[in-house]
Amino acid sequence: MNYCSKCVMPDTKPGVTLDERGYCNACRSQEYKREIDWDQRDRELREMCDKIRESNSSTYDCLVPVSGGKNGWYQAYTMQAQYGLKVLCCVIGAHIPTTEGIHNLNQMVKSVDLDIIKVSLKPSVYKAIRKKTFISQGEPNWSEHMAIFGGVTNIAKIYDIPLVVWGEDVAFEFGGIQTKLSKADASDIDKNDLIKDKTIDNFLDNDITFRDTFFYRYPDLKGPDGKVLSSIYLGHFHFWNGREQYEIVKKMGFKNRQDGPLSGNYIDYDNMDEKLCEINIWLKYIKFGFWRSTDQTCYDLWNDEMTRDEAVEIVNNLRDQFPIEYFQDFLRFHNVSEDEFWEVVEKFRNKDIWRKDETGKWELKYPVS
Ligand SMILES: [Zn+2]
Repeated sequence: MNYCSKCVMPDTKPGVTLDERGYCNACRSQEYKREIDWDQRDRELREMCDKIRESNSSTYDCLVPVSGGKNGWYQAYTMQAQYGLKVLCCVIGAHIPTTEGIHNLNQMVKSVDLDIIKVSLKPSVYKAIRKKTFISQGEPNWSEHMAIFGGVTNIAKIYDIPLVVWGEDVAFEFGGIQTKLSKADASDIDKNDLIKDKTIDNFLDNDITFRDTFFYRYPDLKGPDGKVLSSIYLGHFHFWNGREQYEIVKKMGFKNRQDGPLSGNYIDYDNMDEKLCEINIWLKYIKFGFWRSTDQTCYDLWNDEMTRDEAVEIVNNLRDQFPIEYFQDFLRFHNVSEDEFWEVVEKFRNKDIWRKDETGKWELKYPVS
């Protein structure tokens, strides 16, 4: 387990390779981002939007996925206020939203002033798939990611909307398997690092049938009339900086987490709109030796808002905090006992990077320094 010499990302993250300087993929992407002519990229997006406005005959020009988080809000605001498209937002309803998440979604609709459509997934199916992917691959949120990619794209097709605008390409921005260079086209988002090589068909059984899983299926982007739905990453056209986006939407009424950062976090405005994702992210710690504090300090390191020494201290102070706040919600939602939970967790513990100390407690063999 080696760490990037510029940020604090370990090479245990799938897809990450350190170059001869010791820089990780995301740090290389940051160098590449600084060479991009962002004005030119902005012009490309304006041209694309002009063409859509000229040729589009359906009610909406563009569909933006939102959740109650800052990114979707920023995307919707940007596409409507800066690029003048008629935006429809689509939310795949969170099964356990937070108070702040509910407020932010309502406030976004009011402040940006747009229409929103909500897809609520059948709870029994959603719970069953989440439980399966938790037990089989240690990723309870796999189904949620698949439902967002499939559900949003299906809504765009149903309403004959010509463009879907996603946020950042996670592999490019944060360093991962799928891509090395920034790209506009998001049509293969259903195969990104959050989904990998699975489809919903891998999880069908007697209780989860084909007809239960419409919104989990990524549709063919080409319609019967030959028209192809465009799907793009806004991060290809706009310099992606989460902290800046937070400052923009905060002025429009976005609320951070009112009780301060969750355990293991040091910022209070990231992924706090619902209660089920925190355990999913913490499982990265068991498998790869890093989670929230690494992700969050890396954002700030990439944008030169922190020194590496400061990041190392934060990561080592926070990484062992367990996401206790919504743990009971997680157990109840999946109908899993605490013993069963820890049994599953231990199945995924990576023994190459974990060892037991003299008191029998698990400790990371190679903490960042
Ligand atoms: Zn790095």
